[in-house]
Amino acid sequence: MKHLLIVLSGPSGVGKGTIVKKLLQKGGFALSVSCTTRQPRAGEVDGKSYFFIDKERFEQKISRGGFLEYSNHFENYYGTPKDFVEKQLEKSDVILEIEVDGALQVKRANPEALLIMILPPSAEELKARLEKRGSENEETIARRISRMQYEISKKNEYDYTVINDDLNSAVGEILNIIANKKGDIK
Ligand code: 5GP
Repeated sequence: MKHLLIVLSGPSGVGKGTIVKKLLQKGGFALSVSCTTRQPRAGEVDGKSYFFIDKERFEQKISRGGFLEYSNHFENYYGTPKDFVEKQLEKSDVILEIEVDGALQVKRANPEALLIMILPPSAEELKARLEKRGSENEETIARRISRMQYEISKKNEYDYTVINDDLNSAVGEILNIIANKKGDIK
């Protein structure tokens, strides 16, 4: 059976990370590990959270055509390594947890990709969640909120949107969407 490229996006703090963890626990999915030029946060592991590389190496990889997609946001590059994803896709469905500009690049290059946007029950709630996370300063939070509005404005370009009100329902909904899509392309 053909394996699926699943792109999950959604504003910071919406709970994408927790949803991805649950999907990985179900089995049958591999998570793509992106490259980024941003500094690791406490607890992040190189090669697991991201491949942390410098700007020069990132730009060399761009010029070699090494990314399936990449974007420059929050003043850093983020990109999906092409070879890593292609290798994973031979074995299982692959999840990319990336922002909207990159997601739309993936869709253009690969119309079979399944794009799902995860949204908060309300923008106010998300703002509160983001502030509670406490890992960033006020300026960064403000930038993330304006980015959140931008991301939400692109939701109609996604195949599906899922509201993360209740974690298990959101995961169930995503699994149904994936199962239906796999049924279509069998
Ligand atoms: P963070 O800095 O919080 O880890 O991630 C910031 C944003 O970058 C998130 O929206 C995340 O989904 C996105 N992101 C992570 N990896 C990639 C990637 O490979 N490509 C793109 N386009 N966005 C990414």
